[in-house]
Amino acid sequence: LGGSISRALQQMSNATIIDEKVLNECLNEITRALLQADVQFKLVRDMTTNIKKIVNLDDLAAGHNKRRIIQQAVFNELCKILDPGKPSFTPKKGKPSVVMFVGLQGSGKTTTCTKYAYYHQKKGWKPALVCADTFRAGAFDQLKQNATKAKIPFYGSYTESDPVKIAVDGVETFKKENCDLIIVDTSGRHKQEAALFEEMRQVAEATKPDLVIFVMDSSIGQAAFDQAQAFKQSVAVGAVIVTKMDGHAKGGGALSAVAATKSPVIFIGTGEHMDEFEVFDVKPFVSRLLGMGDWSGFMDKIQEVVPMDQQPELLQKLSEGHFTLRIMYEQFQNILKMGPIGQVFSMLPGFSAELMPKGREKESQSKIKRYMTMMDSMTNEELDSSNPKLMTDSRIMRIARGSGRQVQEVMEMMEEYKRLAKIWSKMKGLKIPKKGQMSAL
Ligand code: GDP
Ligand code: MG
Repeated sequence: LGGSISRALQQMSNATIIDEKVLNECLNEITRALLQADVQFKLVRDMTTNIKKIVNLDDLAAGHNKRRIIQQAVFNELCKILDPGKPSFTPKKGKPSVVMFVGLQGSGKTTTCTKYAYYHQKKGWKPALVCADTFRAGAFDQLKQNATKAKIPFYGSYTESDPVKIAVDGVETFKKENCDLIIVDTSGRHKQEAALFEEMRQVAEATKPDLVIFVMDSSIGQAAFDQAQAFKQSVAVGAVIVTKMDGHAKGGGALSAVAATKSPVIFIGTGEHMDEFEVFDVKPFVSRLLGMGDWSGFMDKIQEVVPMDQQPELLQKLSEGHFTLRIMYEQFQNILKMGPIGQVFSMLPGFSAELMPKGREKESQSKIKRYMTMMDSMTNEELDSSNPKLMTDSRIMRIARGSGRQVQEVMEMMEEYKRLAKIWSKMKGLKIPKKGQMSAL
């Protein structure tokens, strides 16, 4: 996919005269690539029509960077499609909200309910889970298991067969217990069936959710639009979560879901585990969709803010995929020293949102400084290892003592390290551009 788009754009920059024919060929190529990424045909067609209006042939002919102009135009248009124009309802901490999850069987609802609850619990909320799936055998056990693991209160029944009754009882119970985020998991079916939509309508009517979240498997392909629309027609879907983004699917169906529900994507699921859950970020998602390499924006930023003489070394380390505590230390130094390098890492999914939330830079800086103090108490062996198992309890205790911090804090830093190492490892095998070719990535 990335290949074909780059080829199309390459072709363009090779052509000496940019006329409409060349632009059309280029857009055709991009169309094919986006269809392969499961973007809905109509959306692609509307987008290319727009691009033709936006891209000024005279600008292209005048020798500006043509590839860049087209790429940027496509990128911007796709970002626009993902922005429905209004944010979704956001629950407020301390004020009871009911959030209902809907989606086909297997889309990842139950898993995502727990991730959503866990995410908020970590931020000091009091979430609770209600299992209103009486259709799938073992549904309650699955939710119970997840909830127990995350220490989140749950409600359900082995005997009651009416999902509406369970949902209502569960919501009432947790309202009395002053939970501020009451999450209702619902059943699905393998297919879009009238019975399912009727059930969703009834559960919604009875529990009056503040937000209904449509959960979509990233690999459902062109079916996304109809599926999302069908749910939207029976309940007031207000947000979308796309799951299984850790797989091969590029998730172009998310654009359809946004278009069909007029609701934003709020999170993505990136694995089966509880913490494999990220706040949705439009730009990295679109980069991935276009196969621009998730890292093309990242590379541009590196070039912009990392001192010239440090670039090759950093890129080399990136391509090797080993992330040591020493690399983390050096990057933290950069962040503190240079400020703007923070922007570099903000290009990486998962980095900025967790480590450096927007508007809380001061707090993040002191956290980074605290981490560095702890790393100052590490041995060279510890700093240069990329094996987290090396960090035994006794080493962690020694580091805590040496730096005058709590054991808990050292463990928290190691968690951060593991999270960053995972992101970093995705860059393994990254092609390192030769000098002067950086912008041609
Ligand atoms: P439900 O039928 O909609 O409730 O779906 P489940 O929550 O039971 O999930 C179906 C399957 O998808 C389970 O095996 C989950 O572990 C898996 N799953 C859910 N979300 C993700 C994800 O983000 N990544 C991966 N790899 N698997 C997921
Ligand atoms: Mg389920």
